[in-house]
Amino acid sequence: MSEETYMGVPRKKIPWSPIIDYEKCDLCDGDPQCLKFCPHQVYAVTGQPKKLEIENPNNCVVFCRSCRKACAPNALSFPEKKEVLALIKKLRGY
Ligand code: SF4
Ligand code: SF4
Repeated sequence: MSEETYMGVPRKKIPWSPIIDYEKCDLCDGDPQCLKFCPHQVYAVTGQPKKLEIENPNNCVVFCRSCRKACAPNALSFPEKKEVLALIKKLRGY
């Protein structure tokens, strides 16, 4: 279960989740390591042909980037932490 708020800001207002580079993602030859690694059901494989999707972006733990290490082709990236932090502060009214 994901947190509903982060630093007092509703999680759904915080744009933090993995970004998939489909030029690089090869689905790990049918055994997606990012999906296996993350315990928060952020990823799903859907469609025909099969494709990795970010199914539950708000389940991603804000500022976590751990699954990036699981991706050998380096197909995962994340938003700029500084920008997201600035947005959180703005939403909190700092
Ligand atoms: S960054 Fe962390 S929480 Fe988000 S999808 Fe990857 S492992 Fe899961
Ligand atoms: S670990 Fe990387 S290559 Fe494998 S499914 Fe995830 S994004 Fe694609």
